[in-house]
Formats: sequence, C-alpha cells, structure tokens
Amino acid sequence: MASFCIAHLYPDLMNLYGDRGNLICLQKRLEWYGHNCSVQSISLNSDIDYRTFDMIFMGGGSDREQGLVYQDLLRKADQLWKALDAGLPALLICGAYQLLGTHYESFDGKKLKGLGFFNLYTQGETERLIGNIVLACRLNNTVTTVVGFENHAGRTYLEDKSLESFGTVLAGFGNNGQDGHEGVRYKNLIGTYLHGPLLPKNPAVADFFINIMAARKGVNITTSLNDRLEDFAHQQIKRRVLGS
Ligand code: GLN
Repeated sequence: MASFCIAHLYPDLMNLYGDRGNLICLQKRLEWYGHNCSVQSISLNSDIDYRTFDMIFMGGGSDREQGLVYQDLLRKADQLWKALDAGLPALLICGAYQLLGTHYESFDGKKLKGLGFFNLYTQGETERLIGNIVLACRLNNTVTTVVGFENHAGRTYLEDKSLESFGTVLAGFGNNGQDGHEGVRYKNLIGTYLHGPLLPKNPAVADFFINIMAARKGVNITTSLNDRLEDFAHQQIKRRVLGS
C-alpha cells in the first residue's frame, strides 16, 4: 500500500461550485485501488516544498481572491515552475488556470499580472460564459469525451500556437467561445474552466492523474474499478448537452 499526498492550494480562497470535490474523488479512488491519500491545505504565506507532494490542486476564485493568491504564488513561482516542468501533476481550475498566463484583465479594466508560465492571457468581458460543456480530449493517446460546467467572465487566448489545449469544444464555450479550444495542457498539468465535480463525472481524467502519480512513485496500479455509476452520469450529461 502506498501513501500519496496532494497539496490543496488556498482552499479558503479558491473553491467555487464545489471544486474541492475533485480531491475527494482522487482520495476515494486511490483508496479503492488499495492505497491511501492525504490532502494538505496550503494557505497564504505558508511555505511549500513541492517535492513532498504527488500532485497539486487549486480551484477557481473571484478576481479579488485571484489577486491575493497571485501575490503569494509569485514568491514561490520559480519553485512551482520547476516542479511543473519536472512533471508534477497539477489540476488548476478557472481562476487558478488564468493565473498561469501573462495577465488577466477584468471587464472593467483592472489588470492583474499572471505568473507568466505560458504565453496565454485572459480578457474579461461583461457577459459571462455559463453552462454545461462537452469536450473531446486526448488522454493517454485515447480520445475521450469530458463533460463539465463552466462559468467565467474571462476569455483566454493561447497566444503561443504550440501550446496544447486540454480539449476541443463539442458544446459550450471553452477558452473564449471562438476558437474551439478549452484549457491548457503542459506535461502533467491541466488548466481548465471546468468547475465542480470534473473528476467524479470523468473518471478517465481522475485516472489520468492517478496513473501518473503512481508511475512517478514506482507504484503499479493493476486493478480496475467498477465505474458503472460514473459512466452512467457521464453519458447522461453528454446526451443532455449534445442531444442523442
Ligand atoms: N475571475 C475569473 C472569471 O470570471 C475566474 C472566476 C472563476 O474562477 N469562476 O473569468
């Protein structure tokens, strides 16, 4: 039995629409696979050694919270980038995803510098992009659908055309409602607008992270889980959004 530990960044500030449910899902699935997983909360002004974690997770937050978190993350940006570049799995939702770019400008012109890890930026507009969304994503060389819910004022543009998005939009808005892309992928990082129970509704994405965490630890996951209920939920949403 192996022990995994996930860092939950700023749970008191960055947690919208039940984003933290993704952690419960990872913990539970790791348990079902015969391992255990703890979650450590990282708050403002606390030090973090990314080498002690198997994965990092940050949910979405409003512009105010994004500003506070940005200031704090900036102090640790070099360390964070090193960890991500070395393949640390990371799931960063909405406001957290936006912080990875060069800047975020709100609809009323307030500009927030980003961490600048990727050449992407976000421009806020008054009309929010809200609703259910379905993507086609390539995970472990298999194209799979991913269902979710999005709610954002920001339109994100991947300026660097060599950047890989998380998926292609089949229904919904995605990064900006125009170019058909959603989120960003880099090594084992996924930045996405998909809020709430992303992993419970998409066990393939949960297992994508679990398999990487396990491989990085030299742990073999051989059992497979009965995902009948999860797959049923996934299919129901997909049918509702895409039609039959
Ligand atoms: N401020 C961002 C936006 O609305 C992020 C909000 C969120 O995380 N849902 O675009």
